Amino acid sequence: MNEKLTIALTKGRILKETLPLLARAGIEPLEDLSSSRKLVFATTRAEVQLVIIRGTDVPTYVRHGAADMGVVGKDILLEHGAQGLYEPLDLGIARCRLMTAGPVGWQGSGARIRVATKFVNIARRHFARQGVHAEVIKLYGAMELAPMMNLADLIVDIVDTGNTLRANGMEPLEEIAAISSRLVVNKAAMRSRYTAIQRVIDDLAALLEADDAAA
Ligand code: AMP
Repeated sequence: MNEKLTIALTKGRILKETLPLLARAGIEPLEDLSSSRKLVFATTRAEVQLVIIRGTDVPTYVRHGAADMGVVGKDILLEHGAQGLYEPLDLGIARCRLMTAGPVGWQGSGARIRVATKFVNIARRHFARQGVHAEVIKLYGAMELAPMMNLADLIVDIVDTGNTLRANGMEPLEEIAAISSRLVVNKAAMRSRYTAIQRVIDDLAALLEADDAAA
């Protein structure tokens, strides 16, 4: 077993907000991530290493114990499930909303609707709960193109400022879930490496509490 405590981080937008938080907890990569093509980084806390991967891969690494802990968006946990994981902390970073959206002025016809999204499980659950018959079409990107090209009536996507929707003649309709990044922990590692893991959780929790108190 790898003796270092491995934390899997989601690359991209979430990483940019995670690194300052980790740095305040005394965990900083020993080299500049942006100028390196490496995927594994030693840190200023000798027993901790970071791996930088896609968000959808973070729960997989942590579930299988290839990483002990991870930082991942709640959207990914809702879509792909959180089996084998503890979710001890809401880090409150990379906040956004998972929403349905449609062309401005769109009126539901009442008949079956077509929904384009990369969050197919979330979309199916959402429309099933509402008793709406939806055909869910899986896409991997540029969801807002689908209604314009008549591939779908609505989309389910992440909305932050809403600028992407507006720029494409669409508007947000319903909020499905508020999203932020979560700390996740492998359940077996939580027992076998309790002290090291709990130290990271406690350090981050103390920072978040201090930020809340200052707000
Ligand atoms: P906006 O135009 O600000 O509403 O941003 C919308 C797009 O940015 C979405 O289509 C997402 O792909 C991406 N996005 C915004 N916030 C996040 C986030 N916290 N995590 C992941 N993707 C995001």
